[in-house]
Amino acid sequence: MDLRVPEQEKAFRDEVRTFLEESLTPDIREAGRMVTSVFAPVKEAMAWQRILNDKGWAAPHWPKEFGGTGWSVTQRAIFAEELVRAETPPLVPMGLHMCGPCLIGCGTEEQQKEYLPKILSGEHFWCQGYSEPGAGSDLASLKTFAEKDGDDYILNGTKIWTTYAHYANKMFALVRTNRDGKPQQGITFLLLDMDLPGITIEPIVGLDEVPEQCQVFFDNVRVPQKNRVGEENDGWTVAKYLLTFERGGQEYAPGLNVMLEKIRLMAEKQQTAFGPLNQDPVWQYKFAALEADVLALEFTEMRIKSALSAGKDPGALSSMTMILGTELLQKVTELRIETLGSQSVIWQPQALVPGEEQPVIGPEYALTAMPHYLNSRACSIYGGSNEVQRGMIAKAVLGL
Ligand SMILES: Cc1cc2nc3c(=O)[nH]c(=O)nc-3n(C[C@H](O)[C@H](O)[C@H](O)COP(=O)(O)OP(=O)(O)OC[C@H]3O[C@@H](n4cnc5c(N)ncnc54)[C@H](O)[C@@H]3O)c2cc1C
Repeated sequence: MDLRVPEQEKAFRDEVRTFLEESLTPDIREAGRMVTSVFAPVKEAMAWQRILNDKGWAAPHWPKEFGGTGWSVTQRAIFAEELVRAETPPLVPMGLHMCGPCLIGCGTEEQQKEYLPKILSGEHFWCQGYSEPGAGSDLASLKTFAEKDGDDYILNGTKIWTTYAHYANKMFALVRTNRDGKPQQGITFLLLDMDLPGITIEPIVGLDEVPEQCQVFFDNVRVPQKNRVGEENDGWTVAKYLLTFERGGQEYAPGLNVMLEKIRLMAEKQQTAFGPLNQDPVWQYKFAALEADVLALEFTEMRIKSALSAGKDPGALSSMTMILGTELLQKVTELRIETLGSQSVIWQPQALVPGEEQPVIGPEYALTAMPHYLNSRACSIYGGSNEVQRGMIAKAVLGL
């Protein structure tokens, strides 16, 4: 693996930096700085998506003919790194990273024409209706039932942990269309409107007091059959295809490096009875251990990029980076709390809302620490829990 950066890629990095410098508005910058989750405040995130879409950069990972950029793997990685470095608000992934690529791979031409431009522009805001009470890791045991009636399906059941369902106008969902045979064989993939009669959305408030997830109830909801992706009872194939996009391609190291640098600066300012915290050997040991782990993760992520650039499948490396990345995110947010001490426990969620201009108690750099720490407890669960990822590595790598 050659780690030197070629000249044309340096020029590309400069082009991205100039674009970010010129197009990030103060509101969008503030929303990016205040992020305490994988999701940013919706208004600013969508405004940022519109700017990127006007530039043609909303979905660099899509094929060019569908609105992607045609960039190389390295260019996409540089772009992602620069977004993190500039602390832009992350874009909502359900349309751009899950439903879009899935429709490109499994949708009909009609579905691609109808949905893809609206995913890019943000007109369609998607949520993911997979999990149910009793069907998370064991997704194939889902029970929401779709019964055929003329040209429609009639849906009954419930979905849970549906992130941002209360903002979404569209859902891609897995539903059961056959109760016989192997559970995986009776599942169908459907696209539906969130304002259909019979849909009720109940937000769930998280540890950080933010209602990011919801429970969604379906009571005789009528969905046209033309909204099916793939064949009836073959939704498991479509869902597995989509999951490769949900889990793969995510980089943790650039964001972790930015957070570590911030913690390093905070520790210079934090005073203990013996001087600044960054001189404390116990703190120094913890910080150095995390830095080394993040460096190791960075190299693993480079191996993935290298495999992808060579047209190879990175295989179990994606599961490995998900485990390492989420565990390190949890440890880094924990060290930030330790570094800030009692400053991190001042609970002022209103001051995190962009444009609220609430006076901040304590240093502004402490504002996001506790909500981010609390929110990141879930990162080792969603998108497939780390225990399940370990099971996949055991099968794929160790042959167990
Ligand atoms: C913040 C958040 C956002 C989410 N957003 C969405 C969303 O937008 N859309 C959506 O559809 N879902 C979403 N989910 C649901 C998520 O995908 C599930 O929570 C996840 O798949 C785990 O399922 P579960 O919660 O049913 O836990 P369970 O599957 O009941 O697991 C409970 C425990 O048992 C362990 N376990 C289960 N099976 C095994 C096994 N085979 N081997 C070893 N250990 C095992 C798990 O790792 C876990 O520790 C979200 C969840 C969270 C927390």
